[in-house]
Amino acid sequence: MLVVIVGPMFAGKTTELIRRVERQMIAGKTAVIFKPALDSRYDASSVVSHNGLKLRAFVVPSDEDGVRIIEREGAKYDVVAVDEIQFFPPSLAEVLDRLAYGRLVVAAGLNLDYKGEPFETTMRAMAYADKVVSLTAVCKVCGRPATRTQRLIGGKPAPADGPRILVGGAETYEARCRRHHEVPGRGIRP
Ligand SMILES: [Zn+2]
Repeated sequence: MLVVIVGPMFAGKTTELIRRVERQMIAGKTAVIFKPALDSRYDASSVVSHNGLKLRAFVVPSDEDGVRIIEREGAKYDVVAVDEIQFFPPSLAEVLDRLAYGRLVVAAGLNLDYKGEPFETTMRAMAYADKVVSLTAVCKVCGRPATRTQRLIGGKPAPADGPRILVGGAETYEARCRRHHEVPGRGIRP
């Protein structure tokens, strides 16, 4: 079974991912979690302890090598979790689909980039999913449910011509609803 958890930043996707894995571990299943390393180093494994349960965690490159590691290592466990799936290439979706025969696979990822455009890997994984869990955050402007991630640079909405992934820069992010999500230069407003 493949469960895909989607939503904007600050929607609690990782918490929901871990919650679902922990339930299986309490039931005696073996579990592993994979996360992407954005600097493409293979930081091997660590063990995360929580509530007396031990969960093996791998940080893998966010490229085809990482996808191969997830396929090879994931096959050894009853439950496979993958966080931040939007950073992996779209081929991850087929791997998740294959692994989901005979085990539970839980994947979490951003639905849309800061411009409001779909991440291909999340989109493909959602298409293969047996269940999609769509989470919302809270809009920083109006307090209503937020489905989008606002990128701010120097406190102002980031323009549409920026890079899709920005790590470690001066930018910040907040959750916004459709009405308050601003992308100067994208030109989709009526
Ligand atoms: Zn709003």
